[in-house]
Formats: sequence, structure tokens, C-alpha cells
Amino acid sequence: MHAARLWNYLYLELADSFDAMPELPPRVRALLAAEAGLGVLPTALETDSSDGFTCKYLLALADDARIETVLMRFTGRVTACISSQVGCAMGCVFCATGQMGYTRHLTPGEIVAQAVHVARALRETPRGNCKLLVYKQSMASPPARLRNVVLMGMGEPLHNYDAVMHAIDILRDEAGLALAGDRITLSTVGVVPGILRLAREKRSLHLAVSLHAATQEERAALVPVAKKWPLDELMAACRTYSGATGRRIFYEWTLIEGKNDSPAHARAVGRLLRGLPAQVNLIPLNPTSGYAGMPTHTEAAKKFQRILAGEFALPSTVRQRRGIDIAAGCGQLATAS
Ligand code: SF4
Repeated sequence: MHAARLWNYLYLELADSFDAMPELPPRVRALLAAEAGLGVLPTALETDSSDGFTCKYLLALADDARIETVLMRFTGRVTACISSQVGCAMGCVFCATGQMGYTRHLTPGEIVAQAVHVARALRETPRGNCKLLVYKQSMASPPARLRNVVLMGMGEPLHNYDAVMHAIDILRDEAGLALAGDRITLSTVGVVPGILRLAREKRSLHLAVSLHAATQEERAALVPVAKKWPLDELMAACRTYSGATGRRIFYEWTLIEGKNDSPAHARAVGRLLRGLPAQVNLIPLNPTSGYAGMPTHTEAAKKFQRILAGEFALPSTVRQRRGIDIAAGCGQLATAS
């Protein structure tokens, strides 16, 4: 009974201290305070984008490592972008976290604590600091609860598979945050054994695969992990995943001016994904100090999209560039602080 009430306090009431759990007997609270921690992550730095839509937190862990968590407001919904590792071992050349290198995996508690942090922030300031009138009006009834989580922050989630799945189980628990499986998206740079394991376990979540290039040579230049798991192995794993789960995969394509954004590149990805249940998410590059590339211009991104739709009937989106003025690409705040 006490465990169930404690769970409610943690994940429904978002209590941030044992004192805020009055229905637990004092002896239980004293025992918990002596034996356990709530894992509340202090905010080392908080930045709001100039439009107020996006808030980025640099959170401090017990060992003083720092991770990034982002709250993104859209019309009628809020999404938490959370980290799975301190740093990252994958080394994608354009990514600030990749440029940092890998420090350690996060524990399930540290992963869940980020979602709880965003849920608390949402409760405290439902409308955030949004300055755009049209958005304020659309937020007449702001979403009261966190319902969407994307594992697209620092780290490669499938490199920390067990802890990430444990965390997702907690996020989905119906007596707590109760996130639906189709509201959780996990993004991988292409860790083939992890994708195959997801296929075997038929996990209820959305899978996003960072593709960025449609040939092995071009991909390996951007994503070094492609040397370990080449493009043909990755695509075979994606086919296995979609076949086993019946799910469409989101293919992420960071648009880098002059690098992977030409009509020929669009046709190459169209051919690569032909016949697969797929959607392409085009994401103009967030520039970082460690990589000279620049984001693709809007017109070129739209042309890329028109080719995918017109010649390959391939759905795509051009991702809104959230929080560009607060270095919201993963790892950018941690490396700047
Ligand atoms: S893009 Fe993702 S997988 Fe690649 S280095 Fe950055 S955090 Fe790691």
C-alpha cells in the first residue's frame, strides 16, 4: 500500500521531497529519507528560446556530470526531449555531443528524472514564456500533462538499451506518467543489434533512424558508426523491424548545405526507401563550433521534399528548427557551458 502511494506521489503528484508525501507514515518517510534519494536533478542552467516555445535545461547529476533536457511547446502538445547518456560514443561529425565523446550511460532513474523535470516545469508554468499572441491564444487551455517524449537528446539510446527500456517501462506505467507507446519516439544512429532486438521484443514505441546519406561512403563520412554497421546491414535491420512490428520508421535526414541536400541526394534516398513503410524527417543542421557545415536553405529543403513526394510518393516533413537561438541541438549547451 505504501509503495503504491509512493509511486503516485512520485509520478502523478511529482513530489520533489519526502516531506511532500503526508499520507506516508512519518516512520516510512524517515526510512526513505535515510535509505533512498528522489533523484531530483538540479538545474545548472536554463535557457528559453526568444519566442518562448522551447526551454532547454542543463541538469546536474549526482557525480556532477551534466545532461541536457528540452521542453518543446507545440500547439496543443508539449514534448520532452531527453538524454540517454553523458556524451556519446557514436561521433557523428556534425553533433556537439559526438564532439564531446562518451563519458557514461545514464541510469533508468536519471532518464526518467528528466521527463519528471519537464512535467514539473509544465505544471508550474503551463504557458511558459511564449510571446507570440497567436500561440498564446491557441494555448487558452494549455496541455496539463506531459504526453510526448523523444529520446533524441545526448547519447545513443540503443547503446544503453537495458536502462532505456527500463525507463520507458516506468514512463508508460499507467499508475504514473502513463505515456502511451505511440507517444514515445526513440532515435538511433543505426545500432543494428539494438534495432533487431527491438524487432524481436516488439516494443511499443516509434523508431527513428538517423540516415543522413543514402550511400555507404557518404554516410560513413558523417556517421562513423556506419563503418561498423554498414548501410546495407542497417536497411536489412530496418526491413526486419518493420516486418516484425508492422510499424513505419521515421528516417531522419540532417540537411547540410552542399553536402547531402541536392536533388540527386533526394532521389537516392527515395530509391533507398522505395517500398518501405517510411517517413523522412528533414532537419536543417544546427550549426556547431566543431563542424564547418551550414544548414540547407528553406527553398532547397522544400525542393528536396517535393522530389520525395512527387517522384517516390514518400511522405516527409521539414522539422521546425526549435530553439536555434539557445543552442538546442543536443550537446550544444553542455559544450558551451
Ligand atoms: S547525433 Fe546522436 S548518435 Fe550521433 S553523436 Fe550526436 S548524440 Fe550521438
